[in-house]
This record gives sequence, C-alpha cells and structure tokens, in this order.
Amino acid sequence: MLRLAIQKSGRLSEDSLALIRECGINFISSSYKLKTEATNFPLEILFLRDDDIPGYVQDGVADLGIVGQNVLVEAGYPNLEVEPLGFSKCRLSLAVPRADAYASVEALQGKNIATSYPNILGRYLAENGVQAHLHTISGSVEIAPSIGLAEAICDIVSSGSTLLGNGLREVETVFRSEAVLIAQPNLSAEQADLLAQLQFRMQAVRRAKR
Ligand code: ATP
Ligand code: ZN
Repeated sequence: MLRLAIQKSGRLSEDSLALIRECGINFISSSYKLKTEATNFPLEILFLRDDDIPGYVQDGVADLGIVGQNVLVEAGYPNLEVEPLGFSKCRLSLAVPRADAYASVEALQGKNIATSYPNILGRYLAENGVQAHLHTISGSVEIAPSIGLAEAICDIVSSGSTLLGNGLREVETVFRSEAVLIAQPNLSAEQADLLAQLQFRMQAVRRAKR
C-alpha cells in the first residue's frame, strides 16, 4: 500500500486528482473526507495543505506527495522529487513599485523585501551578492509596498495581473516551478515497485498529451 498526499483545496487539487484518474486509478472523493482509498490500485489518498506535504513525506507519514517545486525547495527537501508533472507552472519573481527606478538586482541592496519564500529568495540574493532585509509573511505579499512594510516583494506570479493591480512591476525571475511527484526515501521493495508502476503510468499520460 502507498499513501499519496495531495492538496486538499487549491490550485494543485484538480489537476492532481485528474492525473490519478488518468492513470486508471479509481476512487471516490468527497469534499468532507480527509482520505480515500483507491478501488483498483493499492493507494490511499490523503488530502492536506500543500505546505505540510513535503514534511509529511520526508517523515514517512505519507509515502508520496504532489506539490509545487516552490514549496518543496522552500521546505528544504528538493531531493524528494521523483517525477516532474508538467502542471501548475508558475514562477517566483521579485517586483518593485512601478514608478521606482530599477536597473539590476543590486538596486535591492539594503532594502526590505516581503516574501513567503525566505529560503529560496535568500539563496538567490546571496548568489547575486545582495544583502537585504527579508520580511516573511504568509499571504497578501503584494500589498506590502503600499502599506510601507517593504520596498520590494518576491512572490508567485503567473499572469502578472495581481502585480499590476497593486502598482508593481516584475523585475527578476527568482525560481521557476511546476508540480512534481515526491517520494519518501525509505520505501519498502514492494512500495518502490508500486511507485515505478505509478511513474510509468504518469509518463504515459504526459506523452499522450503532447
Ligand atoms: P493551501 O491552503 O493548501 O496552503 P495555498 O494557498 O498555499 O494552499 P495555492 O494558491 O492553492 O496554495 O497554490 C498551490 C501551488 O500551486 C503553489 O504552491 C504553486 O506551486 C502553484 N501555483 C500558485 N499560483 C499559481 C498560478 N497562478 N498558476 C499556476 N500555479 C500556481
Ligand atoms: Zn499553502
């Protein structure tokens, strides 16, 4: 038996459930239940907050998970990734108020930057030789400049309309992300075999869509 953790409700949920179904795995999902068992594959599906998924898989509470690379890398477990899934593509970008001068990343030296991704951003800034003050906030990062909390932000961008609506412009791409399958490091031989079957099916689903 394998336990697979997916996001309970959010941007990953629908595509995660669809992928499992496209792999020919049947299950009954109800919005009230926190777990469900597949009827034709030894798989149990757990519904969790995406931020909790990397830690649960690292600890072996779940065997597998589907999560964005942004959350996985921020949590510090990039090595759990076993399969890119090609959906929920987005990027983590730096943005500044539209009217502010910005020539290069050095413009952020000594500035306050609001983000939910202090680890990924901290590494990016260090690689670029920039020292800044990071303010970690868990949501509504885009309003930080207008309320005087920060001079710049680093957040997930897909279309850019949220940035525009808050008077910000995107200036650097810090990280590119997509959904990935992750697996705990200590699977039994039987579980590793089931994982291989699952990955084989996932790859077939992706090939069929090209
Ligand atoms: P939870 O309540 O589970 O913590 P959340 O609010 O943190 O959810 P969502 O907004 O549902 O997370 O996003 C989940 C993941 O989907 C993100 O971590 C990212 O990988 C991806 N994602 C976020 N925004 C977009 C977007 N605009 N387009 C595509 N993928 C996105
Ligand atoms: Zn989350």
